Amino acid sequence: MELLEQRIKEDGEVLPGNILKVNNFLNHQVDTNLLDKMGEEFVRLYGNVEVTKILTIEASGIAIAYPVARQLNVPLVFAKKHQSLNVNDDVYVTKVWSFTHKAFYNVVVAKKFLSKDDKVLIVDDFLANGNALNGLIDLVEQAGAKVQGVCIAIEKGFQDGGKLIREKGYRVESLAIVDKMTDDGQIYFRKNS
Ligand code: 5GP
Repeated sequence: MELLEQRIKEDGEVLPGNILKVNNFLNHQVDTNLLDKMGEEFVRLYGNVEVTKILTIEASGIAIAYPVARQLNVPLVFAKKHQSLNVNDDVYVTKVWSFTHKAFYNVVVAKKFLSKDDKVLIVDDFLANGNALNGLIDLVEQAGAKVQGVCIAIEKGFQDGGKLIREKGYRVESLAIVDKMTDDGQIYFRKNS
């Protein structure tokens, strides 16, 4: 998506460790106009797919998922990150390795918000090695629900997550795919992403 790529070029910062910082419009301050347009693009891409629920993960996923859920007129559920191992029987739980914090944490969703009849579109901000996304897919499948597809704002194509998850047969749509980032801050996108 040209508009998003342009914005990443203007405001994205390349940090050591292959981290792209987009706090200016996505991860801290939020450009709601841009996110509305991103939502429209996700809805266009998944136009003829049945969806009953949007699933994302706190915190940054929520703002991206909101316009998608709004336009599709379905509930938005966000998985919660839990430090403690004390989780009860009312939740589905999965363990996720955090790329940015270098630690495991539990991710939970209340059972009452995902059922076996749900057709779920998963939304997240970044796709790197695929751990967060695998965790969200696991939660949907624990519920016996169906993953209809995945919406990612920024995929880092030089990391393996996108390839691994597509190879498992899931549809993944990323609005911008970064193929390369250099230490001096240059960001290169995959064509037609
Ligand atoms: P993965 O689990 O695919 O390795 O990483 C995805 C998760 O880690 C995303 O939910 C996102 O929060 C975080 N993440 C991974 N790479 C980046 C990055 O380059 N920039 C930012 N801001 N977050 C990232």
